[in-house]
Amino acid sequence: MREVADGVFLVTVPTPFPVGPVNCYILDGHPLTLIDCGPRYPPAINELRAALDELGHDFLEVQQILLTHGHIDHAGLAGFIAAGGRDAGPENTPVYIHSEDLRRVANHQRYIRGRMQAYIDIAVRSGAPEAIVAAMKQDSLAEYFAALGESVPHAVALADGNKVSSPIGPLKVVWTPGHTRGCVCYAADEQHVLFTGDHVLLDISSNPSLDFEGPGISLLTYLDSLRRILTYDGYLVLPGHREPIQDLAKRVEELRADIEDKLDRLRDALGPAPTTMYDLSRILYGNYGLNQLVLALAETTDLARVLEQQGVARLVETEEHPGVICAMLNTKG
Ligand SMILES: [Zn+2]
Repeated sequence: MREVADGVFLVTVPTPFPVGPVNCYILDGHPLTLIDCGPRYPPAINELRAALDELGHDFLEVQQILLTHGHIDHAGLAGFIAAGGRDAGPENTPVYIHSEDLRRVANHQRYIRGRMQAYIDIAVRSGAPEAIVAAMKQDSLAEYFAALGESVPHAVALADGNKVSSPIGPLKVVWTPGHTRGCVCYAADEQHVLFTGDHVLLDISSNPSLDFEGPGISLLTYLDSLRRILTYDGYLVLPGHREPIQDLAKRVEELRADIEDKLDRLRDALGPAPTTMYDLSRILYGNYGLNQLVLALAETTDLARVLEQQGVARLVETEEHPGVICAMLNTKG
């Protein structure tokens, strides 16, 4: 744990996910505040407990939990901490999350089952090989993810522009849909600090296509949300993974350029004959592993939809691959 701004302590909390540890922030003072809390995973509980202990606190003293979004690596532990660090208890510690991500935490088990089915649908619609789809259908996978979170039925919905009091002054909710539909940043204007969750990360992409859940093209919404936070250039950016970001405008420009580059590469990969999203994703991202599959497929589909909107690509289904989204160059017009 280290103090990254006045009264703001960064705790690097372990997760079992490929992304590695997640960043949680303790805002020490009144009301004792956590921004994100990690998955429901024993090493994560131990790390957070030790960090609070170092500051002279315990789980029972946490007065509010603010979630940047509903992914389990950030939110899975919220119910446990809200119950004072017990398996069951009075759930009176408020847990705040944007209204569009509320359902992710309100009924965690049901939500996970729904997402697993959605991921299988993405794989099927993209033309992924049957063996891969079969592997995704294993119940053990859904059970594994379900065990890393917990429902927070009393979670409180936030809306854009809401302010939540905190030890470092009011935290303003800045709605930045893309990474998820209810993804937010929290701006502490008095200290010039912006908590970005997974909206902007230092050296990894934010996966803006997988969990948006429509309507519209997630990637375009994400680009709008990137533009939106440029007003906070000059703030210290405290993200949900990896190191703090000192130069927000530069990082936003890099992320924008990265998306442009992927659009260029997908355009180059398109030919006059339809190609499945799965095959295009292999051209774009190479030989990625199973744990990157739905991410790669969702992003490829999003990129193709942007190219379709630009008049560059056509999305079609073919007799050879019924029910599968394919893309080809738009030679008309
Ligand atoms: Zn996330």
